[in-house]
Amino acid sequence: MTTAPSHLFYQSRQPRPFLDRGEGIYLFDESGKRYIDGSSGAMVSNIGHSNPTVLAKMKVQMDKATFGYRLHFSTHPSEDLAAKLAGLMPEGLDRIFFVSGGSEAVETAEKLARQYAVTQGQESRWKVISRTPAYHGGTLGALALTGGKLFAGPFAPMFQDMPHVKAPQTYLDRDNLTDEERGIKYAEMLRERIEAEGPETVLAFIMEPVGGASTGALVAPDSYYKRIREICDEYGVFLIYDEVMTGAGRTGKFLACEHWGITPDIIAMSKGLGAGYAPLGAVAARSDMVEALLDAGGFLHGFTYAGNPLSCSAGLAVLEEMEDHDIIGNCARMGEVLMSRLEGLMERYPFIGHVRGKGLLTAFEMVSDRETMAPLPKEMNAYSELVELAYERGLIIYSRRTRGGVEGDHFLICPPLIVTEPQIGEIMAILTDALDTFAANHDLPVME
Ligand code: PMP
Repeated sequence: MTTAPSHLFYQSRQPRPFLDRGEGIYLFDESGKRYIDGSSGAMVSNIGHSNPTVLAKMKVQMDKATFGYRLHFSTHPSEDLAAKLAGLMPEGLDRIFFVSGGSEAVETAEKLARQYAVTQGQESRWKVISRTPAYHGGTLGALALTGGKLFAGPFAPMFQDMPHVKAPQTYLDRDNLTDEERGIKYAEMLRERIEAEGPETVLAFIMEPVGGASTGALVAPDSYYKRIREICDEYGVFLIYDEVMTGAGRTGKFLACEHWGITPDIIAMSKGLGAGYAPLGAVAARSDMVEALLDAGGFLHGFTYAGNPLSCSAGLAVLEEMEDHDIIGNCARMGEVLMSRLEGLMERYPFIGHVRGKGLLTAFEMVSDRETMAPLPKEMNAYSELVELAYERGLIIYSRRTRGGVEGDHFLICPPLIVTEPQIGEIMAILTDALDTFAANHDLPVME
């Protein structure tokens, strides 16, 4: 294996092979080994790798201009992409602000809500309530929302901690409530938190409509989404949907909020929007909010690369590709196929305790006991071992060991949205082989 150059560093010392090229759902390293990108990178490469149509459209823009600062020029790619995105948003969210990534999108959403509240004479509102576990980004402002020991760690003293409520991990609950009642129970925790903080201090509530890295594709009962919207309305608290991972088709609709007919006040997106072709993110907000900021002298916020024509041309080409090939429809169909194949794994592996997700944002969780949902021992390091076993076999999956107060291992299987049924077969064959080896390594039972 060729090791990474020593001048470069990321989170750890783990060496990885050099990437050579991508093609559809596959990536190839320099030795020619093929990998199925079963996690679309970090749930980014929604339309697959090296799409020639997207590359050709980007090349047209590249030949004209790759950068023009937004305070000096309007550009057609940014205007056209904003118009197209506005058309894909829930009604009323027709103003778009571009950024280059998810953390930037989240912080933009928070700052927009705050500055708007100030223009409305609501200076006292500044707290943004988030859920735990959650993942909203790694920059210090977003980290205050991400919270939790795992991510905040040594940085906790460097930012103002924000209030949190429990994420609705209803599959862990052992009570006599129906699923719908549990949804209400968790939503009402938001009301309690708002009351405890003092409603006049609460600015917004932010949530991932389907959890990503934080909760491993957590979907709440339907009742949760509706009640959260009602509570936010009741208290005049902005509802921010962090659709950084779920947006751009990942859950089988363009936005996850469409599954429940919910209109948030602000939506943050990234990942699948640029789909790995260029760094890109966007925030969608209501016109009245944006106009109030502009009337008050302008939004006090911006990033150098925001709305650059190259990223926007990539975003536009990605959206056109999704429309031309009904990629979101494929995601919804293949999501069902993948989900039932993953559920099938539960028959073979008693240590798989839960399978969940929406569209092609799917996950399974390992447990030591399905009844109690107790996690596997931490020392087993299941979350990293299975990923490595799959990687050796040419399948990339994504995992985490987090579960709020209780820790557990979950694995996200999120291939590009262009995946076909035979390719899901390939994914499952490698995954089963890796799981068999994992079980054998730890003397865990396998049902033949
Ligand atoms: N929000 C969500 C829901 C995410 O999944 C992520 C990235 N995993 C982020 C925000 C932060 O995005 P980025 O890493 O691009 O800053």
